[in-house]
Amino acid sequence: MSSTIITSPESGLLATLCQQLAEQAGQLDQTGDWPRRQLELCASYGVFRWFLPAAWGGLAWSDLDVIRGYLKLSQACLTTTFVITQLTGASRRIAASGNEELQQRLLPALAAGEQFATVGISHLTTSRRHLSRPVLRAEPIDGGYRLDGFSPWVTGARHADQVVTGATLDDGRQLLAVLPTDLPGVSADEPAPLLGLTASCTGPFQMDNVSVPEALVLAGPEENVMATGVGARSGGLQTSTLAIGHAAASIEFLHTESQRRDELQPVWSELDRERSGLEHDLLALATGETVCSNEALRQRANSLVVRAAQAALAAAKGTGYASGHSAGRWCRESLFFLVWSCPQPVMQANLCELAGITD
Ligand SMILES: Cc1cc2nc3c(=O)[nH]c(=O)nc-3n(C[C@H](O)[C@H](O)[C@H](O)COP(=O)(O)OP(=O)(O)OC[C@H]3O[C@@H](n4cnc5c(N)ncnc54)[C@H](O)[C@@H]3O)c2cc1C
Repeated sequence: MSSTIITSPESGLLATLCQQLAEQAGQLDQTGDWPRRQLELCASYGVFRWFLPAAWGGLAWSDLDVIRGYLKLSQACLTTTFVITQLTGASRRIAASGNEELQQRLLPALAAGEQFATVGISHLTTSRRHLSRPVLRAEPIDGGYRLDGFSPWVTGARHADQVVTGATLDDGRQLLAVLPTDLPGVSADEPAPLLGLTASCTGPFQMDNVSVPEALVLAGPEENVMATGVGARSGGLQTSTLAIGHAAASIEFLHTESQRRDELQPVWSELDRERSGLEHDLLALATGETVCSNEALRQRANSLVVRAAQAALAAAKGTGYASGHSAGRWCRESLFFLVWSCPQPVMQANLCELAGITD
């Protein structure tokens, strides 16, 4: 194994990688360019191997270690870390599929970072759920399915070799399939600039009467296909992990400032106490201890990440409001957690907090 492979979240190499990612995070935000260099760096440190079994070139990290790794990465660069979660979601869905031919062909290259895959599944979980007609439909044809419609949010679709997506049949059953991006009828729209994470190059992914052979189906057709398998779920711990990691960046900034400004001492220490309580509950949940529900953790993580970023901005004053300052970027990025893969009860709880409604 190469000497630069990160084999545990305690590794000094992870700290070295994070330092490099943090140094580049501001520029990534300013240019909005796809984080190619950052992903190459992560590949060279073996980050994409954390999430996969050894059979496919992975390091098979435990859920706990993956969470510890993500906490550090998201403190350094949210955009790169978020992109990795989408790659992980796709890789894990392929790994869980039981489709050995696809696993052999795709997973070793994804683990090595030689190929990139992403997910377009939010229309089955948290996007366009109020519409009467599914935005991506599947119809059985000889030897497979015809997919027609679009997936509204697909991170890095234009840079991907494969997109894992889900479609709904007329009878309501759903299937998951992995689509090579050179399949006829498949295309990725130009990604629109976003409030933050523009460099994630997220946009709609179109499927215009695409013939998908059975060999590319990962799961289904069945009721609620997202409830089976692992990875790429909404309501899991991953979103909370990234929120807590991101909050740590703002809180660390407050800590540094508080060394020479006494009035900031109680602010950083209270926020850090809250962060450490959340981290404790997150790690407990990852080991199967039911200290709270996943939704309650997510709601608290969303609340902390937004408040911590705004506290960093207030402490940075007008200087922090100037374009290019990290505090302004953290504020914009923190708002992502209010909309990313947010289950309805979490969104409702966040809205009540914003409205000052207490029970
Ligand atoms: C930067 C970014 C990257 C993302 N990357 C990915 C990715 O790689 N893969 C992936 O699968 N997903 C991804 N997502 C999707 C994300 O997880 C959520 O699913 C998405 O943010 C939900 O927002 P929506 O506007 O699509 O929600 P919708 O619920 O579709 O809301 C759209 C609009 O419809 C209206 N509306 C909402 N609910 C109702 C209602 N009940 N009745 C009437 N009108 C209503 C509102 O005006 C709303 O603005 C990404 C999102 C973002 C912002």
